[in-house]
This record gives sequence, C-alpha cells and structure tokens, in this order.
Amino acid sequence: MTRLLYYEDSSLREFEGTVQEVADRDGAIWVELDRTAFYPGGGGQPPDRGRLGDVPVTDVREEEGRLWHRIEGKLEARTPIRGALDWRRRFDHMQQHTGQHILSQAFIEVASAETRSFHLGEEEVSIDVAHPGPDPELLRRAEERANEIVWEDRPVRIHEVSRAEVGRFPLRKLPAVEGMVRVVEVEGFDWSACGGTHVSRSGQVGIITLLSTEKYKGGTRVAFVCGGRALRRQRERARLLRELALEFTAGEADLPKAVARLKEESLRMDRRLKTLLRSSRPRGASPSS
Ligand SMILES: [Zn+2]
Repeated sequence: MTRLLYYEDSSLREFEGTVQEVADRDGAIWVELDRTAFYPGGGGQPPDRGRLGDVPVTDVREEEGRLWHRIEGKLEARTPIRGALDWRRRFDHMQQHTGQHILSQAFIEVASAETRSFHLGEEEVSIDVAHPGPDPELLRRAEERANEIVWEDRPVRIHEVSRAEVGRFPLRKLPAVEGMVRVVEVEGFDWSACGGTHVSRSGQVGIITLLSTEKYKGGTRVAFVCGGRALRRQRERARLLRELALEFTAGEADLPKAVARLKEESLRMDRRLKTLLRSSRPRGASPSS
C-alpha cells in the first residue's frame, strides 16, 4: 500500500519517498513508491505530473492501493527519491475542482438543480446540471452566490467518516464507495463525498466565471473557469478587444456600433454593385452569361 500524502496535506509540493518496484508495461516504465504526493486522478480531476529526482512523471495510476508513476527515464528499486509536483498544474486543478463544489451547491440553492457530472479539461471546465434551460438571470444568480462563498473565504475541511456516520452530513450525492468515506466540506455551505484534492480555503478559488451553456441529455452543460484560468481568459479577451478597438479606431464600448456601421456600409455597397452590374449588362444577354 502506498501512503497517500496528498490526502494528509494537499498543499505538499515536494516529498521524500522510496522506490518500491519498477515495472515495464506496454513499453512504458512505471514505478511504485512507498509514499507519494502525486494524485492519480479520479472524480473528474486529472492525474498530477512532475518529477522523481530528475526524471519526468507523465502519468499516475492507482491499483488496489498501490500508486504507480509513469516515468520518462530510469529509476532503481529500493532507492530513496525526492518527488516534486508540477505545482502550477496541481494548484490549477484544485482551484477548478473546489470551484466546482461551490458552483454545484449554488445551482442547488438557486434552482434545485443537481450536478450529474463534472469535467476538468485542459482549457475548460464544465458541470452537467439537471435543469432543462436556465435563463440568464438564473445563471447570474448562481454565479453571484458561488462568488459570495469564494469571497467569504470559508475553510474547506475534510472529514474521514464510516459509511454509517455519513448520514450526519447533508451530502449532495450519496457515495458509491464501501468503507471509509471522505467528506469535503466548504464550511456551512457544501458537503460532498469526494476523493480529489482541494484548496484549504474557498478564497483560494479566486473567482468563478460562467462561460457558456448548451443543452445536454435533457439537462444543461455549464462551462466555467476559476482562479488563474479566469484571469488568463480575461487577459485574452481584453487583448482581443484592444486589437478590435484599434482596428476600428473606436473606444471598446463603441465597438458594437462600429461593427453595425460596417455591416450597413457593406450592405449598401453590395446593393450598389448589383445595380451597377445590372446597368452594365448588354441588352438581351441572359443573366447567366
Ligand atoms: Zn472534490
């Protein structure tokens, strides 16, 4: 069994461990450690990456309590090793994942809409909520409520409880696991059975921004980003707006008017061109000639 350091302290970026076993599977080298801070992925959150010594770790998997790290290089069994996570990636996952817990509960509060699934992609994050078509006002209220909870900087606590004890928490969804259950609480707001990694206070999520919605399997897929991703997206949009404003020599707020004028102008030119073509056509010629 591997000791799971990410459950003991999700802010751990580096750790000391020992290589237990090295295995060659399908042309890739995998090593098992006695203890690790590398999260193997699960519950919608992707696995960590980083380094063991100088060797890159490109994937992590859990098999019956043993954690295997796919490496690009060589390591010997029974040797001590220093592990270091790709912290930017892990912290980003924790921001998006904790933001998801908060947003899912906000949708329950404002629309009684349960979250059916969660996807954490390289660019976008989404939840599928059981609501046939939330209007802009409802989406705005869910977003406002979620950000209120972020800015209240509530502690995020982990409770390890037995299956019998789990009833004392108002969980969004009952867990399918046997034995001990890990309940993640955003203090006084949300309780979820979850095996992922989370930030320690809601304030670390930074901000939750909704991006778009689409109909999905009778419900709605809500795309959103949190924290650093929201900042990068905002930066990208600001750059785009600046470029457009320069192109139109207009202020950003005047861009819709500038685009409307351009469209009008283009329609007028089109009509003029058609009139000119009609008048320059020789008499008796068919329209297709
Ligand atoms: Zn979680």
